[in-house]
Amino acid sequence: MPKVATIAIDGPVASGKTVVGRRVADALGFRFLDSGVMYRAVSLSALRNGVPIEDDALTTCASDSDLSLGDSPEGTRVLLDGEDITDRLRDPEVEGVVSRVAAMAGVRRVLVAKQQAVAADGPIVMVGRDIGTVVLADADVKAYLLASVEERAKRRHAERAGTDKETSLEAVEAALKDRDYIDSHRAASPLRPAEDAVVIDTDSLTIDQVVERVIELAAERSGNA
Ligand code: C5P
Repeated sequence: MPKVATIAIDGPVASGKTVVGRRVADALGFRFLDSGVMYRAVSLSALRNGVPIEDDALTTCASDSDLSLGDSPEGTRVLLDGEDITDRLRDPEVEGVVSRVAAMAGVRRVLVAKQQAVAADGPIVMVGRDIGTVVLADADVKAYLLASVEERAKRRHAERAGTDKETSLEAVEAALKDRDYIDSHRAASPLRPAEDAVVIDTDSLTIDQVVERVIELAAERSGNA
């Protein structure tokens, strides 16, 4: 029976990928990588260094950035040129440009190679937009999480309530639709489920149920179900 070593979880903004992916990784004793933080780190680096939002300049910025990722119980910690920038990655300035940065084919080439190198080191759950279609096209398990825009906006709004990133529900929904649109209409690896992905509609499911479903898929794939 094949043994599962790679689990790809994709989906739109605030579909629950990160929390589900981390929980699945913990349950199975796999490493976890949230690939979105890499696009966010390159965006932050570009903003700090005044790099224009165009492919060549951003590709150079991506390949020159010394990115290192560490797994901690609170999530993926990201070091950019030795500085821990994890707490800056959700800043509105980064959020405002990240989908445009991620639409650049050269940036994707650089980051996909880094993600594949991480995956080569052993069992991993990786979450993002193109993991099942590009980064780990041969992943043992592929899940694609769906949720309605309204539900996702509510979740993201609740996550941010009481923090310095709090905005109105309408603003959260507009920003989320904007990123979804760019992510799914770009020429380079647009957001879409892989043909062999299992689509999980999470609207009426709890996080626990989604985690369970992905673990079930892994067990089925290993022949242990
Ligand atoms: O997942 P997260 O919201 O942190 O990702 C931030 C942005 O990075 C996404 O909106 C998308 O534009 C980009 N991204 C991507 N491919 C990935 C992960 C993230 O294009 N694998």
